[in-house]
Amino acid sequence: IRKGSEWFKKIGTEASPGTKVFALAGKIKKNGLVEVPMGTTPGEIIFDICGGLENDAEFKAAQTGGPSGGCIPVEHLNVPIDYDSLKELGTIMGSGGLIVMDTQTCMVDLAKYFIDFCKDESCGQCTSCRIGTTRMLEILEKISEGRGEKEDLDLLVEMGEVIKDSSFCGLGQSAPNPVLSTIRYFKDEYLDHIENKHCDSSVCASLFTSPCQNACPANVDVPLYIEMLSDMVITNELIKLFKLKIL
Ligand code: SF4
Ligand code: SF4
Repeated sequence: IRKGSEWFKKIGTEASPGTKVFALAGKIKKNGLVEVPMGTTPGEIIFDICGGLENDAEFKAAQTGGPSGGCIPVEHLNVPIDYDSLKELGTIMGSGGLIVMDTQTCMVDLAKYFIDFCKDESCGQCTSCRIGTTRMLEILEKISEGRGEKEDLDLLVEMGEVIKDSSFCGLGQSAPNPVLSTIRYFKDEYLDHIENKHCDSSVCASLFTSPCQNACPANVDVPLYIEMLSDMVITNELIKLFKLKIL
């Protein structure tokens, strides 16, 4: 304030001058608040300033703008962040939240979580926001439970666009963003849930018996195998007891 607006406008980009405070959370080594000039890239914030991901895990995406923002995938880590570039990427600046995710995050589950949050936050005045977010959540639940169909993706995109266009306030206008951006950047992951009934991150519990079976390249049912082994142990013990004529 002391140096005036002209000085402040020299920082950042032409379209979005000044600085921005981001609140880093999720799978990041150093979380908390970071103030950077507009135009700084997500890669610089996450890796250069905040030290990268916890346990040096592999980066998958970063959600900007809070629960109704969108995700930025690895291929866009070098895009300078400002209001316009985030809009082009399908997300928003919003409150400045930046949630970092590693490869153990399921994007279908993530979209489900955020649309559920927005559905609860909807005041109910607009039909599209009130009913639309509920219907989107139901479709995402279907997909995460292995009952999804390929057409559901087109339906989610269509509903998302209609909700954005026809909602009265910022909540409805941005609520579909997490769903739309995850479908835009992680469509293969949605298709894996729908066509192969497979959740690669071992998050959607209806799609596997155990995380180890889900991760096994040979799809070995490890819990069943262990159960059979324990049965064999009992059987062997019984045989021993028979031999000793105790039974
Ligand atoms: S868009 Fe805003 S006003 Fe309309 S129902 Fe949603 S929260 Fe309420
Ligand atoms: S093939 Fe055997 S060792 Fe390999 S992941 Fe599957 S259960 Fe484990």
